[in-house]
Amino acid sequence: MINYEWQQFINNSKERCGVVLKNGQVVELPNKHPEPERNFRIMAEDIEPYLEELSALWHTHCDGSYNLSMNDYQLFVSKPDLDQFIISDRGVALYRVDKGFVMNIERRLFDA
Ligand SMILES: [Zn+2]
Repeated sequence: MINYEWQQFINNSKERCGVVLKNGQVVELPNKHPEPERNFRIMAEDIEPYLEELSALWHTHCDGSYNLSMNDYQLFVSKPDLDQFIISDRGVALYRVDKGFVMNIERRLFDA
């Protein structure tokens, strides 16, 4: 999934977010965080239809960085069974929790 066309979701004023299903389908869900330029929040009722098929979560950053924020770290650790993609206008990074630690598994820079 690191090679998916993630660039289509980049938005430099508001973070976008969603899920990757086990069949590889990428679904965007609404970001309902009160400060969406810096954070994202997926509501339980929005993700509920996909819970059986979840493979990963994804979200974008507006600041050009695909490094995880402190909030991201806490979220990722709380969901150790899910892969996590962070997308910025520079590239995409895949994170995975291993033995309680968040590891960067893979990174891909977008072509300029
Ligand atoms: Zn983030």
